[in-house]
Amino acid sequence: MATETTTTFDSNEIFVVFVLGGPGSGKGTQCAYIKRDYDFVHLSAGDLLREEQHRPGSEYGELINNYIREGEIVPMEVTILLLEKAMKESRDTENKTRFLIDGFPRKMDQAIKFESTVVESQFTLYFEASEETLRKRLLKRGESSGRIDDNSESIKKRFKTFEETSYPVIEDFMARGKVRKIDAEQSIEEVFEEVKKIFETAF
Ligand code: UDP
Ligand code: MG
Repeated sequence: MATETTTTFDSNEIFVVFVLGGPGSGKGTQCAYIKRDYDFVHLSAGDLLREEQHRPGSEYGELINNYIREGEIVPMEVTILLLEKAMKESRDTENKTRFLIDGFPRKMDQAIKFESTVVESQFTLYFEASEETLRKRLLKRGESSGRIDDNSESIKKRFKTFEETSYPVIEDFMARGKVRKIDAEQSIEEVFEEVKKIFETAF
């Protein structure tokens, strides 16, 4: 008897690359370049949450606002629902099959739940940079981003969450040989050169 697939998507048809790294490591910037050159849909978990937070009538608005400001992780049911909905929409309306999932999974339970119910990932891109670099970038971004979490108080909490909760997810993927690590201390163009090497051989 053939084993039944229990995930929403088949990983032979739908390709997911997780894009991880500390806050301010350049995930969103690099995803925009990858999307431009390699026909990927870019889904930022943080952006989807912020969109839901501001959607009139959303039952999660207040909850999302509180978690984001505190640099904590929104309960995974909400995030996974938003990601899955966005993926279905892109597939059904535009026949898209390749997805960059930026800033997710940030906690071990999210990784397990997503890969066992939505789809297994191909690999994880990990942008590595020092806290000193990240703090500088975030404070600079905070001058114009309007984000409620780009201030030194929230930044401190986000680093703590990354170190204690999100980095273990990357370590777990590393142990399974599924991480492509990139030095994110360099300029945007230099980092993208490294990213290209990975995507040219993978896709
Ligand atoms: N967030 C979350 N779950 C996710 C992704 C983001 O709860 O899967 C929340 C979390 O509070 C995080 C914030 O959204 O600190 C901002 O995430 P984003 O990815 O936008 O920030 P970045 O890391 O790119 O600076
Ligand atoms: Mg981002």
